[in-house]
Amino acid sequence: MAHAPDSPQLQAFAKEYGTDRDRFEKEASFCIHCGLCVRYCAEVKKKHAIGFINSGARREISFIPEIAAKECPDCKECFPLCPTSYLQAVYVLTEALAFPSSSSKSKPEE
Ligand code: SF4
Repeated sequence: MAHAPDSPQLQAFAKEYGTDRDRFEKEASFCIHCGLCVRYCAEVKKKHAIGFINSGARREISFIPEIAAKECPDCKECFPLCPTSYLQAVYVLTEALAFPSSSSKSKPEE
């Protein structure tokens, strides 16, 4: 709840389980740390292009640019697994910053 306080999915869980106290400073993220993207890439695709970095309240997902640049442009099978659509935003940002040549390939030619 501290990491993604505005996530409708987490708000529903909090209401269901009666949690209403904040122990950590709130951040504006929509990743609810479900790990579906990380597990799918590692266990199903065997690519390990995305993982968790940092720990505790600073934990977040991150694409591994060296792997993602090769594997992700033709895959993206993890996108529909993300319950909050946060993953797609992280991918677009990673692509733009870490391997922009790949993103320019996917744009239609004019
Ligand atoms: S990016 Fe989406 S699928 Fe991945 S851990 Fe966060 S909420 Fe779950």
